[in-house]
Amino acid sequence: MTQIYDRVALIGLGLIASSMAHAMRKHGLAGEIVGTARSAETREIARQIGFCDRVVDSVEEAVKDADLVVLATPISAMAGIANQMKAHLMPGATVTDVGSVKRAVVDAIGPRLPDGVHFIPGHPLAGTEHSGPRSGFAELFEGRWCILLPDGTTDIAATERLRSLWEAMGSNVDLMEPDHHDLVLAVTSHAPHLIAYTMVGVADDLRRVTDSEVIKYSATGFRDFTRIAASDPTMWRDVFLSNKDATLEILGRFTEELFALQRAIRTGDGDHLHAYFTKTRAIRRGIIEAGQDTDAPDFGRVKAGR
Ligand code: NAP
Repeated sequence: MTQIYDRVALIGLGLIASSMAHAMRKHGLAGEIVGTARSAETREIARQIGFCDRVVDSVEEAVKDADLVVLATPISAMAGIANQMKAHLMPGATVTDVGSVKRAVVDAIGPRLPDGVHFIPGHPLAGTEHSGPRSGFAELFEGRWCILLPDGTTDIAATERLRSLWEAMGSNVDLMEPDHHDLVLAVTSHAPHLIAYTMVGVADDLRRVTDSEVIKYSATGFRDFTRIAASDPTMWRDVFLSNKDATLEILGRFTEELFALQRAIRTGDGDHLHAYFTKTRAIRRGIIEAGQDTDAPDFGRVKAGR
């Protein structure tokens, strides 16, 4: 494939940034990849793995002469990084990010950037429960959506260039407005994560079910909660603190529905339960038809011993 950017600066070298580096390398999309992270330890690991052409010790050094700068740190670090880099950005450069919440990021970064720099927020809807520089892989974004959030004033050519990078890494790209993004993600990702965290916390609390029983019988649905609840605590703290309104709105609706189901169980209203589960089954079918999951039993997991 053809090179899309001459020099890409990755700020943060965790799961998302290292996956981007592997994917850009695999498809030849960047002339040079320069990376930096907060700690010397992470920078050293990244040097050893070698997914960047250069790993430097400061944000200022990393963004120098870069035509694409990607902020791939926890959301709470982004305003500080924007302050650090603003005087060192190349005129005409594009700045993007990969944060899971968008309104807070747009408000934190946008006003800090100088004129002549294109700011196009982004969010790849791809991830795993692993984090850090060792967790990345080139295929992470393949077949996944990446949402870009230019506004009415954003340079169209800059947006199309960034879109072509994500498409070349295997993603499908959609454009969206920040508040709508945050509501959609509250429904599809943020509230489900909170529910998984809660379910795992409850199981831990419930003294009538022993730890060994939880582990032994976890294939019955609980295992997927534990995988989600193993996600990075810093990232998810930031998600909830920066997408407060939408998450609280969805959790309010969730609580109402939960009460209705609770009532149906108590009063023996089987029709209500059956109708509800029929509706949710159709949603699952829609996800499979859209190619966002597999319909293999147990998510296609290979059974031990088979
Ligand atoms: P990660 O694996 O935990 O990596 C975060 C990186 O940011 C680390 O290299 C960390 O360096 C660095 N960092 C933290 N503060 C910094 C600072 N002030 N200056 C420079 N570097 C700093 O995180 P991730 O999973 O890649 O997530 C990164 C972003 O992507 C988050 O905003 C998250 O919301 C978003 N996202 C995540 C997923 C997912 O499933 N993981 C999916 C989509 C989007 P140290 O190691 O030295 O601390």
